[in-house]
Amino acid sequence: EGELDAESDDDLEIRPPVVTVMGHVDHGKTRLLDAIRQSNVIEGEAGGITQHIGAYQIWTEHDGIDRAVTFIDTPGHEAFTAMRARGAQVTDIAILVVAADDGIMPQTVEALNHAQAAGVPIVVAVNKVDKPEANPGKVRQQLTEYGLVAEEYGGDVLFVDVSARQGTGIQELIDAVLLTADAGLDLTANPNKAARGVAIEAKLDKGRGSVATVLIQSGTLRVGDAIVAGTAYGRVRAMLDENGESVEYAAPSRPVQVQGLNSVPRAGDVFIVTEEDRMARQIAEKREAVQRNALLAKARKRISLEDFTRALEEGKVETLNLIIKGDVSGAVEALEESLLKIEVDDSVQLRIIHRGVGAVTESDVNLATIDNAIIVGFNVRPDPKAREAAAREGVDVRFYSVIYSAIDEIESSLKGMLKPEYEEVKSGVAEIREVFRSSKFGNIAGVIVRSGTITRNAKARVIRDGVVIADGLAIESLRRFKDDVTEVRTDFEAGIGLGKYNDIQIGDEIETTELVEKPRG
Ligand code: GDP
Repeated sequence: EGELDAESDDDLEIRPPVVTVMGHVDHGKTRLLDAIRQSNVIEGEAGGITQHIGAYQIWTEHDGIDRAVTFIDTPGHEAFTAMRARGAQVTDIAILVVAADDGIMPQTVEALNHAQAAGVPIVVAVNKVDKPEANPGKVRQQLTEYGLVAEEYGGDVLFVDVSARQGTGIQELIDAVLLTADAGLDLTANPNKAARGVAIEAKLDKGRGSVATVLIQSGTLRVGDAIVAGTAYGRVRAMLDENGESVEYAAPSRPVQVQGLNSVPRAGDVFIVTEEDRMARQIAEKREAVQRNALLAKARKRISLEDFTRALEEGKVETLNLIIKGDVSGAVEALEESLLKIEVDDSVQLRIIHRGVGAVTESDVNLATIDNAIIVGFNVRPDPKAREAAAREGVDVRFYSVIYSAIDEIESSLKGMLKPEYEEVKSGVAEIREVFRSSKFGNIAGVIVRSGTITRNAKARVIRDGVVIADGLAIESLRRFKDDVTEVRTDFEAGIGLGKYNDIQIGDEIETTELVEKPRG
């Protein structure tokens, strides 16, 4: 039946859109995904027990025709960016959920930035309209500022008022998704060939071994097929759908849970079907070797601000992509505004591809990886996962505590000048484990030095939950037991007094910096 035939346009058939639900925490993403799933009218009586497999498909009647829509059932944009970072684009349309009583919040903006950066069209679900304080008009108005203009205001974005709790507006929302798909997207795939697609969720199950939910992107996957997903391989032993029922085959846009792989693939790993088992295994092994080398090479290839400046001098680049994170929205806006005002010659462009409030997260690093961007943190720090990802991917993350120095450094870079000869270098990080109140010295932080060395003449800042809450503090006293010391190294305990500054708590970090001459590469 031509399973392994080469693709031709004649073989293309319409496939269902694949939808991801994104939005601010507590705005109702999970509830909405449940409501949509329950609205599955055509399947009628519920199948087996519903399973969470990471995605589900519903059927609906649209314009008199039965249509399917696939939903990725992991709310939020972390899954979205993790997959994009691996080069997988599974989402055709994003539903942006905004609670009508709350309006636009930081993660709303973050989500829409991610969708826009990926070129994925957005449908807005204005949720919680059952609440008396709901103001759906305000949501429309607020989003206009971000380029999402509602149809009723002359724009081309569909907004639908819903109540995930009461189940109202759900059909209209699904219709809006299909309208958006039909208006601008050419969603087709050839079902008559060997399958390929993406793993969207995977785990190790005690009884069943590796179980991976995959989304078919083209072709048809069948029980018995030899497949390779990332570096995992095997033969499809069984497939289950979202109702826990066995299926024999799965067509484009269909999510299924696959058993039979020898290990657990990662979200975003591409899978393909091969003609023989042996081939799947060879590909997997080769990939593993390639991956190891690529990781090293990739880390070296990422652009840093200095690389950019150098490449600019040689006429090899023209765009600098930036991600801005800050402790408060005012600072982020001020920084963005000033940066966009920098005058450079026409060939050079500064693109701010994302901005947000809060610590630098893994999803920021993922986005920076995809678009080769530099992350600028203003009075914030990366969370541990982000720190690890940035180191692994070689992403340049810069921290500033004075807006002017951020602007100055980026401006000189955009003008092709390798500027600052001095830079602030982190010299030590200590974790506060106890706070002693002393009437003579103010509060004393009982710390353990986690990395580097804390020196008496360094400048200190206090970090709470990834946000700098105080900066430029002098270390007034540094003691081990009863002795004044000039430095304390990693893994040693110490007492630090920050003079008049008293707002310290257990769990805060004290980070110290020193000015050092910057090496020229
Ligand atoms: P998520 O964090 O975006 O996944 O949000 P959830 O789906 O967990 O919802 C957060 C809270 O809002 C829960 O207490 C929900 O019951 C509530 N909620 C969600 N949708 C609605 C709605 O349409 N109306 C009302 N009144 N509450 C809702």
